[in-house]
Amino acid sequence: MAMKPSEKEEEYFARMEFERKRKIEEEKHGKLLAEEKKRLKELHFMKCPKCGMELIEIDYRAMKVDKCSDCEGIWLDAGELETVSRLEKTGLEKLFTVFKK
Ligand SMILES: [Zn+2]
Repeated sequence: MAMKPSEKEEEYFARMEFERKRKIEEEKHGKLLAEEKKRLKELHFMKCPKCGMELIEIDYRAMKVDKCSDCEGIWLDAGELETVSRLEKTGLEKLFTVFKK
């Protein structure tokens, strides 16, 4: 019978995978000129990473939550996923109510 990997192991491998991929991306970043980085930032700032439409920013508790005006994807800034994961269920439901049509 195959052993199911423990959650801890899964977390470990997911983290390793992320670190590995981030290293590859960082190497690519190093090759980009500062000028190009600046241009890309101006081009992508407050744009949806998936469809490129404008993001709408709202304040929710201590977070700035950005929601796409088109595909309705929700974008969190660094550290905010941790904040979201600490919200109790009702807090999460309220957050999604904010975005309901
Ligand atoms: Zn979008």
